[in-house]
Amino acid sequence: MIPAQFDYLAPTSVADALSALAEAGDDAKVMGGGQSLLPILRMRLNAPEKIIDLGRIEELRGIRDEGDHVVIGAMTTYADVLASALVRQHAGVLTDAITEVADPQIRHRGTVGGALVHADPAGDVGAPALALDTEFVITGPGGDRTVAAADFFVDLFETAVGEGELLTSIRIPKHTGWGSRYEKFVRVAHQWSIVAVAATVRVEGGTIAEARIGLTNMGSTPLRATAVEQALVGRAATDDAVREACAAAADGTNPPSDLNGDADYRKHLATVLTRRAVLAAAGG
Ligand SMILES: Cc1cc2nc3c(=O)[nH]c(=O)nc-3n(C[C@H](O)[C@H](O)[C@H](O)COP(=O)(O)OP(=O)(O)OC[C@H]3O[C@@H](n4cnc5c(N)ncnc54)[C@H](O)[C@@H]3O)c2cc1C
Repeated sequence: MIPAQFDYLAPTSVADALSALAEAGDDAKVMGGGQSLLPILRMRLNAPEKIIDLGRIEELRGIRDEGDHVVIGAMTTYADVLASALVRQHAGVLTDAITEVADPQIRHRGTVGGALVHADPAGDVGAPALALDTEFVITGPGGDRTVAAADFFVDLFETAVGEGELLTSIRIPKHTGWGSRYEKFVRVAHQWSIVAVAATVRVEGGTIAEARIGLTNMGSTPLRATAVEQALVGRAATDDAVREACAAAADGTNPPSDLNGDADYRKHLATVLTRRAVLAAAGG
């Protein structure tokens, strides 16, 4: 299908994009890589009068080392994150998850910021972002504000980014020396996650010292498996010890039921994938 007619703007600075957004109000939609937005427009599920394309704003691209944090501009593509040694070294679980996103074409156009603001609960970057305690920098007419990962994902397709605001970057605290694994369960290649688990673990002398676990598609937003994180601390990184701690992986979740599996099946999957992800992250 062909999208409804719209005006197209391509500002070259965040300031200009914000002015354009303020002027257009409800009638505008910003575009990152267009990989979720364009299908929506083509299906006429949305028909904004103005598209504000962020693709020419250089200040929104790139990956920087800022001491304790790795900073990723919102318009940085998946492909650029995958190619980054800095991200691989300090936030490996994000690299692991992006390896599993769609196909190379989508990874070359789609952006990390667009994916996070789109906030599809089956999307693959939300859970690692949550597990890594990412900070989200949101910019509006009044300047920047920083939102913690726990407050960013509000509901299905809804985040803390308000009308007239942009996600401009994410700041990831370095998890240097932590092991990582993203376990994604799908029936066919390139499918969206039926369930997936992002695990990053710090092991000291064979014992799990710290663990962070994010769950994909186990509710209306990405979720943290905090009960498992706590249960893992101080345990040996062995199959039996990890299996016992991961039994609580689905606690507090509310997964969907659909043609790929019902909620109970997804809860079972979550415990299995969490065990696999933690063992792999711990080098077991
Ligand atoms: C066939 C197909 C398969 C896919 N498979 C997967 C998969 O397996 N796993 C997965 O995780 N994803 C998958 N995706 C989705 C893909 O990851 C998209 O790229 C991503 O969801 C959106 O990123 P984008 O940059 O293209 O954003 P866009 O599509 O441009 O925008 C998405 C939404 O975010 C808003 N937005 C974008 N950038 C900003 C910003 N900086 N500030 C404020 N608002 C913003 C837009 O207004 C829009 O509402 C798939 C997509 C397709 C088409």
